[in-house]
Amino acid sequence: MWCVNVLLVFLTFFVLGQDPTEIVFGGVFDENLESGDHSDLTDQEAFKFAAYLASKENGLRFKAITETNFNHAEDVNIVQSICDYKDTAHVVNKWVYGPAEHRTIINFYPHSSYLTQAYFAILKMSEWKRFTLFYDDNESLLRMGDLLNLAKDDGIVVVLKQLDEVGDGIYRTSLKEAVRSGETNYVIDCNIVVLEEVLRHAQQVGLLTSHYNYFITNLDLQTINLEPFQYSEANITGIRIVDLSNELTYWKSQGIIRGDFNPHFDLSKMKTETALLIDSVIVLAKVISTKISFQNLTTDDDSCDSLKSSRHGYTISNHVKTSKHSEMTGLIEFDGNGFRSNFDLDVITLKDNGINKIGTWNSSKGLITVGHGAKHSIKASNSLRNRTFKVITTLTAPYTMLRETPTQLFGNNRFEGFAIDLIDELGKMEGFNYTFLIREDMKNGAKDPVTGQWSGMIGDVMDGTADLAITDLTITADREEAVDFTSPFMDLGIQILAQKPKNAPPSFFSFADPFALDTWMMLALAYVIVSLSFFIMGRLCQEEWTNPYPCIEQPEFLVNQFSLQNSAWFAVGALMQQGTEIAPIAVSTRMVTGMWWFFVLIMVSSYTANLAAFLATENPIHLFTDVYTLVDNMEKNNMRLGAKANGATESFFKGKNDSVFKKIAKYMKTHPEDMVKENKDGVKLAEDFNNYAFFMESTSISYETQRHCSLQGYGKLLDDKGYGIAMRKNSTYRKTLSMAILKLQTSGVLDDLKRKWWEEKRGGGQCSAVRDNDKTPPLAVQNVQGVFFVTIGGTILAVFLVIAELLISTYKISKKTKIPFKEASSIEMRSFFDFNSDVKPALGDKSKCGSKSSEGTGTSNNNLLAPAPQYGFIPTITKEKL
Ligand code: GLU
Repeated sequence: MWCVNVLLVFLTFFVLGQDPTEIVFGGVFDENLESGDHSDLTDQEAFKFAAYLASKENGLRFKAITETNFNHAEDVNIVQSICDYKDTAHVVNKWVYGPAEHRTIINFYPHSSYLTQAYFAILKMSEWKRFTLFYDDNESLLRMGDLLNLAKDDGIVVVLKQLDEVGDGIYRTSLKEAVRSGETNYVIDCNIVVLEEVLRHAQQVGLLTSHYNYFITNLDLQTINLEPFQYSEANITGIRIVDLSNELTYWKSQGIIRGDFNPHFDLSKMKTETALLIDSVIVLAKVISTKISFQNLTTDDDSCDSLKSSRHGYTISNHVKTSKHSEMTGLIEFDGNGFRSNFDLDVITLKDNGINKIGTWNSSKGLITVGHGAKHSIKASNSLRNRTFKVITTLTAPYTMLRETPTQLFGNNRFEGFAIDLIDELGKMEGFNYTFLIREDMKNGAKDPVTGQWSGMIGDVMDGTADLAITDLTITADREEAVDFTSPFMDLGIQILAQKPKNAPPSFFSFADPFALDTWMMLALAYVIVSLSFFIMGRLCQEEWTNPYPCIEQPEFLVNQFSLQNSAWFAVGALMQQGTEIAPIAVSTRMVTGMWWFFVLIMVSSYTANLAAFLATENPIHLFTDVYTLVDNMEKNNMRLGAKANGATESFFKGKNDSVFKKIAKYMKTHPEDMVKENKDGVKLAEDFNNYAFFMESTSISYETQRHCSLQGYGKLLDDKGYGIAMRKNSTYRKTLSMAILKLQTSGVLDDLKRKWWEEKRGGGQCSAVRDNDKTPPLAVQNVQGVFFVTIGGTILAVFLVIAELLISTYKISKKTKIPFKEASSIEMRSFFDFNSDVKPALGDKSKCGSKSSEGTGTSNNNLLAPAPQYGFIPTITKEKL
């Protein structure tokens, strides 16, 4: 027996038998590699099959003898030591990390550096910005090390997760963590033996749906039973080096497969390493039959018992490494380092109909044959047609509300509102179906600062309970880290909702409000000046001196109507627009009169024009006008502040450094009783308490103030943000939905929906109607009370003046007539209170209540019993100085 210099699989040798044309290959195999499944081709069987094929193709008779001695794959190092010692070619068909340290080693397995390039090219093509890598052991981590470095250099975020077999959950525990993380892109690098179970567990925890993308690095993906996963709609991509479809056809046509070895073989399930084993036997057989001289094989040196080194190890190794062959695993070629290079990998994807080849990666040309369909598949389909989304929402008016109807409704029909209409429009545009789910606790979603877990609808989207979330769901930076949002469908900011300010009672002198104080003062000054002007000009004007008795042609004296009192009275008469019987005669006095009347006309018109407005003006008492005055006067006004608990508004204040906002955040933290579960409750509190200020988003404020007329929004928007539809991170349909929203925006559909749900439906526009009717409120007595009091005060003052005048005139009469004051008073009183008579005894030589004539004029009427003159005044009679 001759032991000749080739080690196959872990250890292979060939022996030249009795018949010099028969070459016997011997192989030592790891017994763990044997499969109990009859449809699987074991390595031993494959080895024999390869020898059979080699004999058919090379004209020599190759025979395979197998030994199953190895217990551990690590024993390959022992084999390598023997090979080193014997200087024998060592053929390996396994993944090995690092450079080939031994000249004699020939590894038919694609080298890890080339595989890494292939993985990375596929990730780049899929445009992933982040992914989670599931690995199963240290070797797996080592295998992925270069890929991680490439991803890092390219800015791709990678999260590492070991596929732990923990407890009863097996892989489910690690997979559930992945679900919670919201990640949608996964690379799985694990042993083919566990891959099927990993995928099954992923399916069980909801990680194998249309939202998730997988890249499976194992070259044997096609060999496991993928049927349970092919309808999952998950986007599963993989690679393979073996495509036996052509090979099988060839073998069948040549009558090679006749069930000679194992009638149950399913060669389409052949593992990569098995195929490589067959290829390596065939390549070696070809090299031996063409390059090695059989004469040389008969020397003692090649004896297995010999301690000498083989002379053929390097020769065979060098021939294999420098030759090119095209076998089952494609082109077999080695680079300068002895690594298998220039090989093709099929990029495959799992579809409803099974495995589909979507492209080819070549180690020298890169990803070369990815057609339109392939790219489409790797990036996952953007089309939403015929998909059914689970859409979660909260019953928040006007986004989602229960339809008010006497009949019982089912399914989506139960709901109406802005969000429902929006999803419906999107569904019509993109052709998807949807089912609404309701989040009963009204939580939109907040991150637990301790556990980092998301609550509410954001949590639902992350853990796959729902595909989309829509309501008054604010796009925030925190949430963006956990989920993806579409473009905003509505813009808004935080504002304050509180009761409208109460009106102050009308001012006592509101009738004076049309003119400012200085106008009143100037008016009084003008009156005094004009009165004096009449007095002075009246005296200076000759024409104003008139004959009191027109029948006397040559009067002894002339009279002038513009006494000081008359001048003042004349000016008042004009000012009050009542007139007097005084009529200026001279041109100059008429001129002054005209000017005064014009002045009065303008002033009175202006006053009258403004009066109604000023009397009706309400003077609101503002407790605050914006967030700053609110916080400044918080203690003074005993203000209470609130917002929706765990909402975006609360987080806004929590995340601010501004002292005012910090104070609000502190108040909210220390007063949980003022925080509400839903906006509706905050609106109720604001309606009930005039010192309650509710921080709310402007769109919701505008909705509520249309329906709750006692409320209004205060201040400018504190921030600027939008509502969006949330979906799982890296969802492929985000762009499609965003585009659809933008189209709805530009076509005006969103505006129409907003008008419908804000202004028209469910009591919209109520408060604007109220405002219209309120335009001209009637004047209450409070509005004019000042006028009443001034009039009454003037009248009372006049009564006192009358009494004073009475006392003075009675005193004068008693002095003149020598009648005691008391008696004169009682005579006067008796006649005053004799309401049956209009005459009274004349105790003195004059005069008449309320008028004064100049003393010593000698023109007074001495008949005291005569009735008062019919004129409104007694002219001043002055002797004309001729
Ligand atoms: N839109 C908010 C959110 O998404 C809820 C309301 C609020 O916080 O004012 O959390």
